[in-house]
Amino acid sequence: MANDIVPFLDLVSPHRELEEELIAAAREAIRGARFIGGPEVEGLEKEFAAYCGTKYCVGLSSGTDAVRFALMAAGVRPGDAVVTVANTFIATVEGISQAGAETEFVDIDERTYNMSAQSLATYLESCRRDPQTGRPLGQRTSKPIRAIVPVHLYGQIADMDRLTDIARQYGLDVIEDACQAHGAEYRGTAMSGRAGALGKAAAFSFYPGKNLGACGEAGAVTTNDEHVATYIRMIRDHGQSQKYYHQIEGYNGRLDSIQAAFLRIKLRHLDRWTAARRTAAQRYNELFDSMSKSGAITIPYEPDWSEAAYHLYVVRTRERDALATALNASGIQTGFHYPVPLHLQECYRPWGYAPGRFPVTERVSSEIVSLPMFPTLTAEQQHRVAEAIASFVRMVAPC
Ligand SMILES: *Cc1c(COP(=O)(O)O)cnc(C)c1O
Repeated sequence: MANDIVPFLDLVSPHRELEEELIAAAREAIRGARFIGGPEVEGLEKEFAAYCGTKYCVGLSSGTDAVRFALMAAGVRPGDAVVTVANTFIATVEGISQAGAETEFVDIDERTYNMSAQSLATYLESCRRDPQTGRPLGQRTSKPIRAIVPVHLYGQIADMDRLTDIARQYGLDVIEDACQAHGAEYRGTAMSGRAGALGKAAAFSFYPGKNLGACGEAGAVTTNDEHVATYIRMIRDHGQSQKYYHQIEGYNGRLDSIQAAFLRIKLRHLDRWTAARRTAAQRYNELFDSMSKSGAITIPYEPDWSEAAYHLYVVRTRERDALATALNASGIQTGFHYPVPLHLQECYRPWGYAPGRFPVTERVSSEIVSLPMFPTLTAEQQHRVAEAIASFVRMVAPC
């Protein structure tokens, strides 16, 4: 038995490769004592906006703040409701709550694991309407719905044509949670482009483990809307556009200059890293071909309008827990994203959602397992993963 661990994520290699450049950038920031804002932040904002194909990018301290500020800038206020999915990282919903709004969930699509356009349409059709404004009222909260937040989970863009079309019918803004989807592409009929350029605004995280990660905490909002960009520039900095003149009460949500400098260096490698992830995903697909055809495992589904950035490579099987145990026993690290859907989390128990409320989300969350996926994953490591899964499948379901 090979006793090398196949890690779930290798964050060390890319930093080793860029070490000299990163250290030089840190040294320069320290020598100039430039730590908050300044040319590195502005440079990153320009470059990341250009990368996403948007007019503006505003650097922030985290992806969670990016979700919150994007919603606030789009006009979401306390007393409003926002629709999203329960199969996501909790930060999506924290951003909604921290904008002062209530969350309403809809179910996901069985194949893409992203927000289901059908569920959204059915949900909105059966909402009561506010007699004055005509806005749909949330079914859990009775609050007027202002926006939807599709999450581009695992690096695959949600069904933006259909979701946007539905949102438009109800006068709702679309805020993308693109925290896992840097560089993912969408080629729809009504719109096309990269993650971040497909809604009113988009939230990005540069948490170290994301496809584009800082060496610490960081995030950003991208948008084509000048008002959104201006508003977020103000609230990230205590509500001031001129020092000590506060138009509104804001937050401390700024991006560090050192992190911006690191991100500019790494952004130059993002396309190469994304291509390596896509190659690795393709190789997994080939290695799993017969197990996928026999129905033993379900591999990721990529609609023809999607070019996913494979933040995660997630397979699905009824024997999920046993498979993960077997893989971990043979030195292959795995993860569950996410093991408990948000509507069933302890912290949201007061919301009163019962098991069975979002059947697809619940089924999927009990059957998914994320396999090792990162740009420097080798073919040999992938063969080991495939062999371990194949021997598990033979053991569980001998033909
Ligand atoms: C990582 C992540 C966030 C939050 O980003 P932070 O930078 O960690 O605050 C939000 N939404 C999703 C889907 C994420 O994966």
